[in-house]
Amino acid sequence: MNCPVRSEGRGESLLEYCAGRLDASKAAALEAHLEACPACRDFLANQEAVWHALEAWEAPPVSPGFDQRVYRMMERESPSAWWERFRTAWRRPAVPLAATAALLLVAGILSYRPAPAPEQPAQAVEIEQVERALEDLDMLGQWSGAEHAL
Ligand SMILES: [Zn+2]
Repeated sequence: MNCPVRSEGRGESLLEYCAGRLDASKAAALEAHLEACPACRDFLANQEAVWHALEAWEAPPVSPGFDQRVYRMMERESPSAWWERFRTAWRRPAVPLAATAALLLVAGILSYRPAPAPEQPAQAVEIEQVERALEDLDMLGQWSGAEHAL
């Protein structure tokens, strides 16, 4: 087996082993490697020390009155800082203008419907109508010419 510390850089398979997520055959191969590799043993010992320290750590109890102090600090801050900032920004003339432009743009994008593709038969009918109209004009021209000739 390749040394996880040297080949993987961060020793991923050692971390998996430490977390108990390595399958049995890989765990057995790693344990065999650990017998011969002081670098991996050190890595594993350090990792286990971190895990034990994390397991042993307990968050300090919250002091009595903590919630009230937090609420008081929040009240001391401007009562509605973000809302005030929003309102004062809204009073500047450029903001409503920009917002209106953005709204119109969004409305335009939302209402945009691509024109339906013209259907082939309709086009064929149009061409036939144009041809017929041209023929009719031609015939009318011939008749009017004939009238003048008479
Ligand atoms: Zn190793």
